[in-house]
Amino acid sequence: MKFKFILPSLTEAESPFWRPIKYSLFPPLGLATLASYLPPEYEAEIIDQHVQALSLDDRPDVVAIQVYITNAYRAYQIADHYRNKGCYVILGGLHVTSLPDEAQQHADTIILGPAEEAFPRFLEDLKNNQPRERYFSNKRTLNNTPPTRRELIDRKRYLVPNSIVVTRGCPHHCDFCYKDAFYRGGKSFYTQQLDDALQEIERLPGRHLYFLDDHLLGNKRFARDLFNNMKGMNRIFQGAATVNSILDGDLIDLAAEAGLRSVFVGFESLNPNNLKQSNKKQNLGRDYKRLTNRLHDLGIMINGSFVFGLDDDDPNVFQHTVDWAIEAGITTSTFHIATPYPGTAFYQKMEQSKRMLTHNWDLFDTRHATYQPMKMSCPQLEQGYRQSYREFYRWSAITRASLFHGSAKHQLKHFFYTSGWKKFEPLWNLAIQMKKLNLMTPLLETVLAKVTPRQAPASTRPITITSPSTP
Ligand code: SF4
Repeated sequence: MKFKFILPSLTEAESPFWRPIKYSLFPPLGLATLASYLPPEYEAEIIDQHVQALSLDDRPDVVAIQVYITNAYRAYQIADHYRNKGCYVILGGLHVTSLPDEAQQHADTIILGPAEEAFPRFLEDLKNNQPRERYFSNKRTLNNTPPTRRELIDRKRYLVPNSIVVTRGCPHHCDFCYKDAFYRGGKSFYTQQLDDALQEIERLPGRHLYFLDDHLLGNKRFARDLFNNMKGMNRIFQGAATVNSILDGDLIDLAAEAGLRSVFVGFESLNPNNLKQSNKKQNLGRDYKRLTNRLHDLGIMINGSFVFGLDDDDPNVFQHTVDWAIEAGITTSTFHIATPYPGTAFYQKMEQSKRMLTHNWDLFDTRHATYQPMKMSCPQLEQGYRQSYREFYRWSAITRASLFHGSAKHQLKHFFYTSGWKKFEPLWNLAIQMKKLNLMTPLLETVLAKVTPRQAPASTRPITITSPSTP
């Protein structure tokens, strides 16, 4: 029995904004996790179309395809192709779970929600020649999961082959997040057993790790135990956490001691009305400036996430947000146009208020306006989004944000991390073409080296998200 696991490339792969390095960061861990459930006598291969060519000339017994919203049409074409050849096709992932009836037309079987428990049931039914059309994960647990089949991944093709996920989901419920749709009908936040997580970390070569968990600090007890155990492991790592989890208690200090060197933070908006409307309660009343100072003092670089186009945003939001991010010494920023993904509360609201402008899923890439904003036009929103990237990543802005830090070492780290990420595209492309991205990993580890704490905050002006009049 031969299984072929495919991650079709996202539509962005054909856009003028396509940056190969952005999609050569992490291997398709979810597919490698599924492959680990196959009996040893089954053959398996994983094809990630972002980093390698997909041949359609073969005839595997089963084709399993991971579907995101912006690769959905491509995924359906691949699925139809293989079904026409007589292969058994299963589809799963975020978009399949949001729109099962759409996906079902292109699959023999679809898997809804997280697949760790549903996929083994499918395998059992397939063996008995009785596979069902739909599987839904009802007993969600990460206990006793087999080791991820990382040997199916070509590490040289990725800048961060040591990506790892030790939790699933998130304890929060932001309106625009895919999470509630994906985990509907069962637990929406759970963790691995600590020993399993530590063993997986031990198995990964080198020093650098990237935790792809939505919220690494989401379960305080688990995170505390994880970081305490990682202290002696000589690792450096990156991950994501919410505003409140960084401000409250000492978890972030433990994470820094364990090797956390950069964190993805969902600031999303500097406007409290937007946060309220989006049910982003964990950010409300929080002093963003205190948060950035705290992370800077711990030598942790910040990747800030910001969303544009929410109902209280007018055309001033772009410059205001970019200025704040530069002033606060944010290392890298990820800007998004708010996007109502099917299955989310945000999508429902936009549908009910008849503000959806398109259902062409290729445009749901957070670069396009897909619904009618309240206080600006769609072209204003899209131009402002592009302008924000240009402004934030100007050489002068990178230098200004770097100079925020107290020590020269921290300033240089910030400068090289940001400019390395955004300004050296030809170098990244060369490494990708030569299939030598792994040679860049030591460089990344050097830039992520520990810095001594800052002596005095460069700025103490607070920005507290408390009232509509606060910027
Ligand atoms: S905190 Fe992040 S991952 Fe959690 S629900 Fe909100 S947007 Fe989603």
